Amino acid sequence: SLSHKLIRKSARPRSTTGHTVLVTGAAGFVGTHVSLALKRRGDGVLGLDNFNHYYDPTLKRARQKILEKAGVFIVEGDINDKGLLQQLFDAVLFTHVMHLAAQAGVRYAMQNPGSYVHSNIAGFVNLLEVSKSANPQPAIIWASSSSVYGLNSKVLFSEKDRTDQPASLYAATKKAGEEIAHTYNHIYGLSITGLRFFTVYGPWGRPDMTYFFFTKDIMKGKTITVYESPDKGSVARDFTYIDDIVKGCLGALDTAKKSTGSGGKKRGPAQLRIFNLGNTSPVPVSTLVSILEKILKVKAKKKVMPLPRNGDVEFTHANITLAMTELGYKPATDLEAGLKKFVRWYLSFYSGSKKKSS
Ligand code: NAD
Repeated sequence: SLSHKLIRKSARPRSTTGHTVLVTGAAGFVGTHVSLALKRRGDGVLGLDNFNHYYDPTLKRARQKILEKAGVFIVEGDINDKGLLQQLFDAVLFTHVMHLAAQAGVRYAMQNPGSYVHSNIAGFVNLLEVSKSANPQPAIIWASSSSVYGLNSKVLFSEKDRTDQPASLYAATKKAGEEIAHTYNHIYGLSITGLRFFTVYGPWGRPDMTYFFFTKDIMKGKTITVYESPDKGSVARDFTYIDDIVKGCLGALDTAKKSTGSGGKKRGPAQLRIFNLGNTSPVPVSTLVSILEKILKVKAKKKVMPLPRNGDVEFTHANITLAMTELGYKPATDLEAGLKKFVRWYLSFYSGSKKKSS
């Protein structure tokens, strides 16, 4: 088949580190950055993405171009396509799978619940099915989400805290992913690491996220809506800069132990881990707006509204002690510095694409 041939020729990932990584969701925001970082240090990288239209597909194509320039090839396909996954695993010996493909976004789940079940549950199971039968089994590193903490009203979320009150279907599917990971680890000895990302932002970011469309709307003079909780004031998020998340992902990959395989009695305890990756410094969305006003030198038109029940939670704050200890994770970028980098990218990307289309 086409993908098989492509992989056999120029796209075959070359590694100088002994790591060969399948990155799912490689044309996505986090996937692009992680793929570039892996490639830069010499890991073999092959991407997989279905280029769905959840948000502007031209942004995904632009990321793909950057990746191709760096020598990372993306196979176009769905993680639910078992035949395709099998072909990829037959053609390439993956040591690791960095699984970042998912239906993201909490609010969209009310419009298209099926896409969450398809990508985050069925797709994840499909990927684990193919991975558990591969010889040797790859270690799996995958993106869960801070949203699993849901309506937990504790102020600082630790990995052992309760995750049984999801506020959205998105959160419920990520939580389901964590439990599915447990079963594949238990039965098949797959080594699986889940990473609970906290509101990731930065260059090449996702247009459906607040910091991104606030930037766009503030520049256009459009009124933005800031949500408030009745007792806690502005909704707050533990915004985490993309480069910090990438370091956490690489730390997780480098400390992942090889699976012990499904070899009956010889099977040892395979690794099953879960980590928060946040900035551990929550910022109210009202402050996010002031920082954007300062960087853009534009006063925002804003209205304040009570937080509706649309899947969003009021507050997120990561305890990152475990990731610091086990992964050498150490976030280094504060929100203002990170937003400056985002805005610089945003302005150059969108002025560039305007020039092209006129
Ligand atoms: P993204 O939407 O930019 O990237 C996901 C990519 O996966 C997209 O390019 C999409 O086309 C692809 N994809 C989706 N379904 C697929 C399928 N069935 N088959 C193949 N490809 C598919 O999102 P992101 O922000 O880069 O998020 C990456 C991961 O991190 C996701 O699992 C997301 O749920 C998780 N996460 C992100 C954040 C954040 O703040 N960005 C926070 C918590 C968790």
